[in-house]
Amino acid sequence: MIWETIYGREELVRTLQEAIRLDKVAHAYLFYGPAGIGKKTIAQAFATALNCLDGQKGCGACLSCRRAAAQIHPDIHQIEPEGKTIKIDQVRRLKKYAYLKPRESRYQIFILRQADTLTTEAANSLLKVLEEPPAGSLFLLLAENLSALLPTIRSRCQEFAVGRLDKQSMAEFLRRQGRISDEQLAGIMVWAEGIPGRALELADSQARQQLYQEAVLYLKELAEGKGISSLAAKLAEAEDLTAVIDAMILVLRDLLISPAAGKNPEILAGNETILLTQLTEKWNRSACLAAIPVLLKLQTDMQNSINIRLALEKVFWDLKEVYTCANSCGNSL
Ligand SMILES: [Zn+2]
Repeated sequence: MIWETIYGREELVRTLQEAIRLDKVAHAYLFYGPAGIGKKTIAQAFATALNCLDGQKGCGACLSCRRAAAQIHPDIHQIEPEGKTIKIDQVRRLKKYAYLKPRESRYQIFILRQADTLTTEAANSLLKVLEEPPAGSLFLLLAENLSALLPTIRSRCQEFAVGRLDKQSMAEFLRRQGRISDEQLAGIMVWAEGIPGRALELADSQARQQLYQEAVLYLKELAEGKGISSLAAKLAEAEDLTAVIDAMILVLRDLLISPAAGKNPEILAGNETILLTQLTEKWNRSACLAAIPVLLKLQTDMQNSINIRLALEKVFWDLKEVYTCANSCGNSL
């Protein structure tokens, strides 16, 4: 069953399955959440089930399901940014197909990855087809940053937030991957923070180290008085913004527990004791304690429709304030 590729999202899966069962499938869906959270897997499973020849169960065994799994299904189209954006020409090509009947299945499905990168022109063109969707065509939009999508596009879609996995589902997901040992599991769980795609990327300790260094650098530069706007601009361009923010929280946590770590450095998320020492002089206990909630709030806000760049700038101002206050007051909690 294709639905088994989705972990810990029983309610979401049930809703999609019910829509199929009751024949109440919408013309457009929007799945949103951070990079690596599993939006693509969900869209893929839904598209496969919709065209499954065995009563739309998503059997995984029929010809349609097998073609979908191999990404060679003639009625399932994948659209992703060419360069940094999804362009008008790509939407024009999509529309050429969308107004035709499905070639051999019940639905013709268009999966738009990173739909938040649609150029304005492309978004307006897509809007026209979403406003009067051709029968048999269905659009699955995937996005990280909701504020980058036109409200008119959003209003045409059924929206689903794809949240972080709980610990149990995450552990289950990682165990099923088979290539991660029990020893590695605990460490990866800390870093992945409920994001399965990130867990796979960070299974390699070198990748974790790199992310940790990046997070240390932001905190260091902030303390050294680097301009807020340039820090926010740099972070906004990060390949995986959520991962860097989560890593900053891990670094602050490490700073808090590092005095107690002593001979047990393995309790720290990073193994960068030298880097951490550089920060210890700058980020004292009260600064860390005040900064963590600021970043946690940003994580929550990022799930909603906000202007990322402005939000980052505000966060850096808040962090600078807590840092400055903690240092000038000279107190430690
Ligand atoms: Zn099937």
